[in-house]
Amino acid sequence: MKRTISLLGSTGSIGRQTLEVARQLGLPVAALAAKNSVDLLEQQAREFLPELVVLYEMDAAMELAQRLSGLPIRVAYGMEGLLEAASMDEADTVVIAVVGMVGLRPTLAAAGKGKRVALANKETLVCAGDLVMERARRGRAEIVPMDSEHSAIFQCLQGCKDKDEVKRLWLTCSGGPFFGKTFAQLEHVTREEALRHPNWTMGAKITVDSATLMNKGLEVIEAMHLFSLPLEQVSVVIHRQSIIHSLVEFRDGALLAQMGAPDMRMPIRYALTYPGRAPSPEKPLDLLSCPSLTFAPPDTEAFPCLGLAMEAVRTGGTACAILNGANEAAVERFLAGEIGFNDIPRQVEGALNSVEVKWNPDLADILEADREARCVVKRL
Ligand code: MG
Repeated sequence: MKRTISLLGSTGSIGRQTLEVARQLGLPVAALAAKNSVDLLEQQAREFLPELVVLYEMDAAMELAQRLSGLPIRVAYGMEGLLEAASMDEADTVVIAVVGMVGLRPTLAAAGKGKRVALANKETLVCAGDLVMERARRGRAEIVPMDSEHSAIFQCLQGCKDKDEVKRLWLTCSGGPFFGKTFAQLEHVTREEALRHPNWTMGAKITVDSATLMNKGLEVIEAMHLFSLPLEQVSVVIHRQSIIHSLVEFRDGALLAQMGAPDMRMPIRYALTYPGRAPSPEKPLDLLSCPSLTFAPPDTEAFPCLGLAMEAVRTGGTACAILNGANEAAVERFLAGEIGFNDIPRQVEGALNSVEVKWNPDLADILEADREARCVVKRL
């Protein structure tokens, strides 16, 4: 079956690679949405001729509408535009590749409409995993992960009918650019050093998250929701080569791993073709020239963000939304040169200690927790 996609976050790293895969698979595109990149979105719109394009920022959308006048393409803006792109009838598959909490309401909308939601945005599951998964159950939507680790686990679980057979999930973690350093050594690392990831080419926010290991903390929470498993059944192992993308350990001792070259187009393609597999033009992993595979435990003293994420899970309620909001704000400040690298965990911890946690949160409580956490970080 050829899927028609609506792509939110089309100008970012995952979005551009999704279009590359869509072009190769010949998938029709019903909608494209981005934040404010007028030039690139115009170019994408002219190539894929979607019915709808959305720019989150109004002025940018106005400019784009002018440039696309004459083409049968509607231009919308703001959250309303994103929600329309996420729920339009013309698309059966909605790719959520926007970064951060802005993806939450569109994800809920797509899930409520029974779409296949190809989810590259982990923040939504971290903040509101219960709401998203519940909305998907009720809307009979499929949530298919595009995050490489979760795609690996999703693939390893194909054919597993009984969740009780799963002993635990192993999320692999490259360790980032600062593997082996102590907390004290990390005090003065620069923005440029943090943005140099050893194996993956990604956007700035997730690259910094990979350097602090917050990315792996968020991914643990993401995995708990996607595969409905408790924290005790989700483990992290450092695997510097990023060849094994993650593993499932079964109760009989069998470990299934998904391997491949570190290339996001593989999980993207799988999310768009699942349960089938399409041919890929990319060079596959060559086992004979592949480096030795190594494994090590994560260092939670040097990288406190991983521990903070676990702590937020144990607290429950809105704690994960506070963790995520504080982290987004702190990473923004780090990228702007306002705070140091180790201030990221400090400010996240500050927010976790000062924002009040609400239990059984609804969407409004989650958005409020996110807002308060960001305010705390801005004040610190
Ligand atoms: Mg990942």
